[in-house]
Amino acid sequence: MGRIYFIDVTNRDGVQTAKLGLSKIEKTLLNLYLNEMGVYQSEFGFPTTRHETLYLQANLELAGMGVLDPIKLGGWIRATAGDVETAFRLVPGIRHLNLSISTSEQMITGKFMGKKNRADIVKEMTEAVDAARAHGAETIGVNAEDGSRTDLGFLIEFGQAAKEHGAHRLRYCDTLGYNNPFSMYDTIRALAEKVGMAIEVHCHDDLGMAVANSVTGAMAAIDGGQDVYINTTVNGIGERAGNADLVAVILAVTKSKGFAEKYPLGLPVDLSKAWKIAKFASYAFGVPIAINHPGVGANAFAHASGIHADGVLKNPENYELYSYTELGRGEPEFVETGREIITGQYSGISGFSHIMGRMEVTFRDREEANEVLELVRYANVESHKPLVEDELLFIAKYPRIAKKLLTLRPLE
Ligand SMILES: [Zn+2]
Repeated sequence: MGRIYFIDVTNRDGVQTAKLGLSKIEKTLLNLYLNEMGVYQSEFGFPTTRHETLYLQANLELAGMGVLDPIKLGGWIRATAGDVETAFRLVPGIRHLNLSISTSEQMITGKFMGKKNRADIVKEMTEAVDAARAHGAETIGVNAEDGSRTDLGFLIEFGQAAKEHGAHRLRYCDTLGYNNPFSMYDTIRALAEKVGMAIEVHCHDDLGMAVANSVTGAMAAIDGGQDVYINTTVNGIGERAGNADLVAVILAVTKSKGFAEKYPLGLPVDLSKAWKIAKFASYAFGVPIAINHPGVGANAFAHASGIHADGVLKNPENYELYSYTELGRGEPEFVETGREIITGQYSGISGFSHIMGRMEVTFRDREEANEVLELVRYANVESHKPLVEDELLFIAKYPRIAKKLLTLRPLE
């Protein structure tokens, strides 16, 4: 029987969103939080993009050190043999890849402008799969971009060809958020049965149905006898109206009526990290969490009206489907209203030592403290905002990795 896994794509789809971005240290922290949460895989970046190289290498190093474990770190590239070669040249340690190519008539005529036909697309994709396998990729997902506007017969053919060449998963991309839960179910069920390979569902929220489509997609894949890998982003941040929100999808598949008994998770997920990861992503992206956001919005557990307040005080289950404590909420937040000492790009050792001392971090000597402070300054130059405690702790604990994350070398 199939099971549900999560592949979070915040560090790929989230950061390619217009007007938004993350520093390499912020991306790394997200990977750490996703790992703590029990997310199966983080699509951690772009292995053919030069400014990602050191970040990707550093995160694979953290994986090797057991710091990012058991989470898998997957790269996203175009499905061409050339991109596979570049990816393995720049990031030789990469072991998990998703190879993406457009499959719809709209894209073939509207984007490739008649330069490619369906046979070319299958050929390019299978050559890329062959190349990735030859380089030792352990898992390969093949992405059908604009899958929801692709002829189903061709999608099946595309998936079968990927499987024959040794791919492990077919990512069905509802790139434009065009599906509804019913069309999603029918398509994914057919793909699971006819292709006979694990399915990834990648849903966007242009019609407000990304979470619902992910849930019915998961259902369909499992009904069709396959594992399903739901693509999510933290706080739903992604292109245009965004992607399926990580916390909302986890809540939906674990708490909705009758679902979890029939469609189980493949790995336990620690929902108590939800609050922390949502708050951090909000701070790092500079995008507030909507007041009515499921689970992590300011109003998710707020009650004002007489009947509701009375009811929830008598028994929370009267008006709450799940408890705030399950999501890691409930701790009061400390907001400084008096004097603040902040480390920034022009900070000195005294203020820095004060802050680190408050977090009970001690340094071997003044030299080590200065070294870490220097890295913190650089991190601040990149993020343009005060670093959070976990960032400071990360830099103090892994200064060599932090140095790599902060190194950008455009001229080499
Ligand atoms: Zn997407």
